[in-house]
Amino acid sequence: MKTLKCDLCDVTADGETFEQWMMALQPHYKEAHAEVMESKRGTPEEMKAAMEEWMKENKERFDAVS
Ligand SMILES: [Zn+2]
Repeated sequence: MKTLKCDLCDVTADGETFEQWMMALQPHYKEAHAEVMESKRGTPEEMKAAMEEWMKENKERFDAVS
C-alpha cells in the first residue's frame, strides 16, 4: 500500500497500484479541483492528451514512492 499526495494539494490517497490510487483520489479531485478539470475541458483529443499527461506525471510520482 502506498500513500501519495494529490498533485495539487496536501490531501493524500492510498492504493496498492497506481490505478487504485487514482480511483481513491478521484472523489477528492472532483470535489476540490473541479475548476482545474473544467479548465482542461476541450475537444475529446485534447482531454485525452491532458489525461494521459496527468497519468504519466503521477505514475512517475507513484512509482518513486517506496
Ligand atoms: Zn487535491
